[in-house]
Amino acid sequence: MATSKEGPERPTERLDIARGLENVPVSAWPPGAEPEPFQYTPDHVAGPGTDIDPTQITFPGCICLKTCLPGTCSCLRHAENYDDNSCLIDTGSQGKCANPVFECNILCQCSDQCKNRVVQQGLQFQLQVFKTDKKGWGLRTLEFIPKGRFVCEYAGEVLGYSEVQRRIQLQTIQDPNYIIAVREHVYSGQVIETFVDPASIGNIGRFLNHSCEPNLLMIPVRIDSMVPKLALFAAKDILPEEELSYDYSGRFLNLMDSKDKERLDQGKTRKPCYCGARSCAAFLPYDSSLYCPLGKSNIS
Ligand SMILES: [Zn+2]
Ligand SMILES: [Zn+2]
Ligand SMILES: [Zn+2]
Repeated sequence: MATSKEGPERPTERLDIARGLENVPVSAWPPGAEPEPFQYTPDHVAGPGTDIDPTQITFPGCICLKTCLPGTCSCLRHAENYDDNSCLIDTGSQGKCANPVFECNILCQCSDQCKNRVVQQGLQFQLQVFKTDKKGWGLRTLEFIPKGRFVCEYAGEVLGYSEVQRRIQLQTIQDPNYIIAVREHVYSGQVIETFVDPASIGNIGRFLNHSCEPNLLMIPVRIDSMVPKLALFAAKDILPEEELSYDYSGRFLNLMDSKDKERLDQGKTRKPCYCGARSCAAFLPYDSSLYCPLGKSNIS
């Protein structure tokens, strides 16, 4: 009877939400609970309606043999993106747009140790998907994250505008909206729009909740493709066990123009926000331009 194995708890196989596809496994809490299944992808995938494949390499690499430095490196047009500790340097002061970030890519001559390779290294911190009191699932860190460090991407299907419209129209008010619209204003007055939906194919970014005082900051980062990675960086030092959040409205980064902001406050039933921040706006922001009928006005 020495080998009786009755009773003792069998060590349960640790659930990895990322299915082994990230550098670090992502656990779930409480043990035994599991979010509704979805297809995990660490990177964007091409969805319906887009003409650019986000996995295609479209940027030429730099020819730096030693260190990539602004002025000589073609990937660093204006200034360095990251400091020696892999922290984002320009977190963009409020109301001002952060500079666009281009990382060195697979065609660059520089080594893997180049400082201009951060987001492409993937997850570096132990993160956990957990059940919150009022907001369904959320994402938290199990370790300290210094301000400026890359935390995770918001990755999923990259969609064309009409497909976004179609999906939004199918949503009921109870359905969580995962679709994010990022608008980048470029010099010529042009606006580059990127729509990402991680609802059925996505990464852990889909578990992030909104906060009116977020601890993450979303920055579009380009590596191989013109389609930006939506990279989330620590906007402040983040303590272990703290829930990770960002501002769905992109307010912190000023990704929207003032017209967008005005439209946010009109019509449409809005969902309550439970972030608990002192400056909480009480309702979740939504991108009302996604609800407009097809055929958007031209941007001059
Ligand atoms: Zn270079
Ligand atoms: Zn380069
Ligand atoms: Zn480089």
